[in-house]
Amino acid sequence: MPKGIYQVPFVSNEPVLSYAPGTSEREELLATYKKMYKQVIEVPQYIGSKVVKSGNKKEIRPPHDHKHIVGYYHAGTQADVKAAIDAALKARKDWAAMEWQNRAAIFLKAADLLAGPYRAKINAATMIAQSKNAFQAEIDAACELIDFLRFNVEFMTQIYADQPISSDGIWNRVEYRPLEGFTFAITPFNFTAISGNLPASMAFMGNVVVWKPSDKQVYSAEVIMEVFREAGLPDGVINMVLTGGAETAKTVIEHPDFAGLHFTGSTSVFKALWKQIGDNINIHKTYPRIVGETGGKDFVVAHKSADAQEVATALIRGAFEYQGQKCSAASRAYISKSLWTKVEKEMKKALDSITIGSPEDFSNFVTAVIDENSFNKCKGYIDRAKKSKKAEIAFGGKCDDKVGYFVEPTVILTTDPHYESMVEEIFGPVLTIYVFEDKDWNKTLELVDTTSDYALTGAIFAKDRYVLNEGIKALENSAGNFYINDKPTGAVVGQQPFGGARASGTNDKAGSAMNLLRWVSVRTVKETFVPAKDYRYPFLAKD
Ligand code: NAD
Repeated sequence: MPKGIYQVPFVSNEPVLSYAPGTSEREELLATYKKMYKQVIEVPQYIGSKVVKSGNKKEIRPPHDHKHIVGYYHAGTQADVKAAIDAALKARKDWAAMEWQNRAAIFLKAADLLAGPYRAKINAATMIAQSKNAFQAEIDAACELIDFLRFNVEFMTQIYADQPISSDGIWNRVEYRPLEGFTFAITPFNFTAISGNLPASMAFMGNVVVWKPSDKQVYSAEVIMEVFREAGLPDGVINMVLTGGAETAKTVIEHPDFAGLHFTGSTSVFKALWKQIGDNINIHKTYPRIVGETGGKDFVVAHKSADAQEVATALIRGAFEYQGQKCSAASRAYISKSLWTKVEKEMKKALDSITIGSPEDFSNFVTAVIDENSFNKCKGYIDRAKKSKKAEIAFGGKCDDKVGYFVEPTVILTTDPHYESMVEEIFGPVLTIYVFEDKDWNKTLELVDTTSDYALTGAIFAKDRYVLNEGIKALENSAGNFYINDKPTGAVVGQQPFGGARASGTNDKAGSAMNLLRWVSVRTVKETFVPAKDYRYPFLAKD
C-alpha cells in the first residue's frame, strides 16, 4: 500500500500549438512528416515481452496518395490473439497488485513524452496514414491523447477517494478492484487519441488488455505502443494485435476470462459484438462490462433569430473538418427559411476558399477520406442526390480518386426531411440541409428528435432565449453532447465528457470518471472494532 495519501499533479488541458507560418512547431512537424514519408516502416504486434513480426506483411498507404507505400504491418493470426490473452493473464497478478501511484506515473510520463519528444512524430504519423491536416492531428493525436492520460490520473484518484461513511465502532471502506480476467479494446481509425485511450483507461484501473486497433490506424498505433513502452508500461499489460476484427472478437469473447469490452466504432459492429457476448454468457466467469461509443447523425438546427455567419461557420467546421470523419460531425442541418439565403451566401464564400489536397501542404483545410470504401460510399450518396427529385447539390459534389481519395466538401439540399442523407451516417464530407418554414420551429424540433436512430451530438443556434430554452427541452434525448450556439464537434477532455445514447452508444463518457468506473469491481469492506459477543438484542429482554 502507498505510504502517503498522494496528491497528483495539477491537471489542465494541453495547449494547442498553432502551426502558423514561422513557428518552430511548424518547421519541426513538416521536417518530421517529410522524413517519415520517405521511410518504409514495419509495424509489429506487441504480445507480452515479444515484438512479433509474422512475415505476413500488409501495406500502409496514405489515403491522399494511395500509390505510395509508407510501411507495412505484420498481420497476426488467431494464435497471436490467444498468445495475447495468455500474456495479459500472466501480467495480471503483478499489474493488479501495483499501487496506483505507479500506474499514474507511467501514464503521466507517457503524456509528457507525447507533449515533448514524440509530439511531431505522433502528429506526422496521423497526418500520413489517417490524412489529418496539421491542426486536426494536433488536437487529436497530441493534445487529446495527452489530456486523456493526464485527466484520467485525476479521475482515478477521485474514484479511489470516494469512500463511504462509517458509524461508531466500525470503519467502512471500498476497494476499486480491477476486473477479474482480461479486457478487450477495439478502436476506430478516426481518432489516434481514442485508440490510445481505450486500452489505457482500462490499464489505468489495474486491468490487463488485448488491444486491436483499426488496420487503417496502425501507423500511429505503433507510436502509441512505443511511447507506452518507453514510459515503463510492463510487458503484457497492453498487448497490441493486428488481426481481423470478427475473428479476434470470436477468440476473445469465447474465452472464459473475458471480462470487458471497450469499443469505439460503428453501430452495426457494436450490436453484433453485444449479441455475441450475450450468446457466450454461460462460459464467462463474470458478467463482462460492455462499453461502446458508436455512430452518429449529428444535427445543427438554426432558428430565424440566429446569426447567419455564425451558423455558416459552424456548418463548415462541424461538417468538413477532418473530411467529416468525426462521429460528432454535423451531417444534417435544419435552417429557418428567412435565415437560409444569408447562410447560403456565407457558406459559398467559405467553401470557395477551401482547398483540398495533401496535409503536407498546410494551406489545405480538407484532405482525403480514409479509403476506397469510404470514397465510394460518399460518391454513392452524391450521385444519388444528383439524380433525385427530392435533392440537389448546392455546393461541391466532385470526387476524384486518381491520386488520393478526395471528395469535395458537398452540401445536399433536400425538400424531404427524411431523405436518405438526412437519416443515415455517411462519415464523410457530405452535409444535407433541409430548409423549414419560419412558422414550423416546433415541428422542426420534433423532426430533429425523431428522424434518426442516433443521439450523439447536436447543436442549436438562436439568439432568442425563449426559443433556445424550448429547444434545450425538446431535444433533451437527441444528443449526448449538446451545443448551444456552437458547432457540434471538438469536445475537450475534462470540459465536455463525450458520448451519446440511443444507437450512438452506452454513453459512458470517454475521458471522465464515469468511464473509469466501468473498469472496476468494488469490494466493500466493513471492519468492526469491538465485535458483539451475545446474539441477543436488547428488545428480546423480558419486561
Ligand atoms: P468500424 O466499426 O468499421 O471499425 C471499428 C473497429 O472495429 C476497427 O478496429 C475494426 O477493425 C473493428 N471491426 C470491424 N468489424 C468488426 C467485427 N465484425 N468484429 C469486431 N471488430 C470489428 O468503424 P471505423 O470505420 O473504424 O470508425 C468509424 C465509426 O466509428 C463511425 O461509425 C463513427 O461514428 C464511430 N465512432 C464513434 C465515436 C464515438 O465516440 N461515438 C468515436 C469515433 C468513431
